[in-house]
Amino acid sequence: MNYIILDLEWDGAFYPKIGRFINQILQIGAVKLNEKFEIIDTFEQTVRSSFSNRVSKRFAELTGITKEKMLSGVSLDTAFTEYNNWVGNDTVTMTWSNSDIYTLIDNQNNITDQKLKIEKYLDLQKYVQDEMRSRGIEVSSQISLLNAANQLNISIDESVLHNAKYDSIACAALFKECYNSERFNSMVINASDPDFLSRYTFKPHFITDINDPAIDRSVFDFKCETCGSPLKLKGEWRARNCAFYADMLCTECRIKYFTRVRIRKLYDSVKVHRKLYIKRKKEQKNDM
Ligand SMILES: [Zn+2]
Repeated sequence: MNYIILDLEWDGAFYPKIGRFINQILQIGAVKLNEKFEIIDTFEQTVRSSFSNRVSKRFAELTGITKEKMLSGVSLDTAFTEYNNWVGNDTVTMTWSNSDIYTLIDNQNNITDQKLKIEKYLDLQKYVQDEMRSRGIEVSSQISLLNAANQLNISIDESVLHNAKYDSIACAALFKECYNSERFNSMVINASDPDFLSRYTFKPHFITDINDPAIDRSVFDFKCETCGSPLKLKGEWRARNCAFYADMLCTECRIKYFTRVRIRKLYDSVKVHRKLYIKRKKEQKNDM
């Protein structure tokens, strides 16, 4: 098995075909490591935009990819084909944070019919963060490559960062330093699974339609805090501010309650947050 560290450089540009900005991939860089974490091959290809003849100033400064360099690149289709021929079989592909994957999916959906070959996938940023935390190092959730390297005492030539190939070489050093087979195996995702793309493009959200089939209706059942009897719904559930609200009554103790249920839809699960408030004295007296 080989490890692939993939690094995409992209620039935002307005794409008339879809009527919005897209982060178009303008460089693909990667390194291939053997099982001893030795770099056995590298890949770098610059991509010519299919719809824009310029690059942003910031992008050019950050990556060294000037307008001239971009215009002398190959098409995204060609770059993907070259990459797929280079990458080979039996690989785990890693990227520093999954933003590369979002960008890749957006490009695959809108710019090219080709797919970049990813057999298995690991979010290297998350992996390194978890390993650092296990070593007692405090880390923020979106740590930069440079910051992680500094904290792990890995020296990186800063002058070549943000070039796709050299970013990948820096990632390789971090991966080698942080390798832990148990953690690695538990975090690797099978990317040949058609679910992979939908999982990465899925955006968690609050459910605001009370009839959403993802809702288990029992989340709306509450019990009296005093006697434990099921509460009786007074009126109807109301959706407001990403949550559902209702007035309820314990028919045994005559205590009035106010309830809130917030339901968050994740890719393969639903998270429910429920709250029960006893109404204030004044409200207890009204409308019994
Ligand atoms: Zn009660």
